[in-house]
Amino acid sequence: MIDDVLKRRLNFCTTLPSLPAVAVKIIELANDPDADIGAVCQYISLDPVLSAKLLRTANTPLYKSRRIATNIRQAVSILGTHTVLVIALSFSLTNSLIKSPLSSQSSIFDSNIFWRRSIASALASRALGEKLELNFLDDLFLAGLIQEIGILAFWIIMPEEYGAVFASTTDHDTLLNNEREAFGAGHDELGYALLKKWHIPDYIALSCINSHSQPEPKNLGPTLQACLAVSRYLADYFLYPHDADKITALNQAAQNWLGFDTDVLIEVIKIMEVELNAVEDLFEMTLHDSSEVNGILAEAKELLMIHSLSRIKDLEDKSQRDGLTGAYNRTYFDETLRREFNLSTQYNLPLTVAIIDLDHFKHVNDTYGHVAGDYLLATVVKTIFDQIRQDDTLSRYGGEEFALILPGTPLSAARNLIARLKDSVAAISYKFDSNSIIHITASIGVASYYENAASFHDAKDLIKAADSALYAAKHAGRNQIIEWSPS
Ligand code: GH3
Ligand code: MG
Ligand code: MG
Repeated sequence: MIDDVLKRRLNFCTTLPSLPAVAVKIIELANDPDADIGAVCQYISLDPVLSAKLLRTANTPLYKSRRIATNIRQAVSILGTHTVLVIALSFSLTNSLIKSPLSSQSSIFDSNIFWRRSIASALASRALGEKLELNFLDDLFLAGLIQEIGILAFWIIMPEEYGAVFASTTDHDTLLNNEREAFGAGHDELGYALLKKWHIPDYIALSCINSHSQPEPKNLGPTLQACLAVSRYLADYFLYPHDADKITALNQAAQNWLGFDTDVLIEVIKIMEVELNAVEDLFEMTLHDSSEVNGILAEAKELLMIHSLSRIKDLEDKSQRDGLTGAYNRTYFDETLRREFNLSTQYNLPLTVAIIDLDHFKHVNDTYGHVAGDYLLATVVKTIFDQIRQDDTLSRYGGEEFALILPGTPLSAARNLIARLKDSVAAISYKFDSNSIIHITASIGVASYYENAASFHDAKDLIKAADSALYAAKHAGRNQIIEWSPS
């Protein structure tokens, strides 16, 4: 519970920004169930910046109206009084807090990150609500925006003491516990107290507390609380889409609390993309550098797919697969090859092995970055998996090198398949950005037990042969297949 000391500091804090007169009036109207359109229009018109924002917002994809609003009264009638109040509140709260002198006080607290995260959470919780066809999207937006406002309140009323606690962890739940230990209350309660001090209606202020109590898994339901809980993970992922931990956390939260699988999540992200500009415009803040936003989000969706697929595979056979691509790992490959080789020698069965090495892959990484490289590696594996049989084993043999075991397959039969695999790798096309499309090729070395049985005494000999054929393919100019022969 918030004790008296904390309460006094909150109430008598001189650095806490006071709300502008328009915001105070808007809050009053939001608390008044009988507020009429005329009064709302009148007060909003007093603030030209806010009026312009509202007008622009009414005409963005956030509100799919066929009518165009050209003045505040039209905007209010398109959006409805409640929506206008909530947007105006989001904007004036954020605006007055962003302008508070906080950012210069501390080196640990980066208020820019805080607001980007808050705005991303707002965008995320609204998009989740939209996917769920809920009818309180604006409340979701505002709740998403302010759910962490208690962190800001701590920084404002006690920057030094809070700095030490804040710096002690990067984990959100631990932070909350540490705050409770040090100050008797966490930023959930302090956020609520701050919003109540400003007379924000209870049902909105309570979201600070609600979003921090984790919903019961399985107790699924499209509630505000569940959307808020997921929105934090979605925002983190939206801001840092390359962080594998964030992808995993998001997948889990969305599954547990909303029953969303990856496909649904990707639709939610698409909604966020469409609405991103309108929201950035409202807050005059960019979440991603606009030149890279398309690339980042396209990539992010692919990574989400890949990770969820490899997560499912991981559960099946974690110890056998390579985490990035889902191909079998080296250990599994070695065991399988040994087993197949023994079967082949014992029963005189055909067995073909191919090593597939991507050409100039270092150059791809150096030019487009590792994320693009990783994506291509996973795509190559998926492309090959799509064409081979259940009995065939594809493994990641080295970084950008894959080995394929084709049991029961003589060279003559393997030839067609391997040629097709080479062509399908060359056909992969990855749109990196508006100016560049990445293409890759592969060199392949092939060795077959059946045709040259006398040359191979154990499984390692077969691999060595395929490897030297690969070496020859590289030397001959790459993007080609060479079959090993005793000569
Ligand atoms: P070559 O045509 O001769 O095979 O040239 P190359 O650049 O493909 O070969 P090299 O063996 O010199 O470099 C392999 C590169 O593959 C080095 C590294 O940048 C990249 N690579 C290896 N593992 C990974 C990985 O897990 N992810 C990414 N993105 N790149 C990887
Ligand atoms: Mg290579
Ligand atoms: Mg290599």
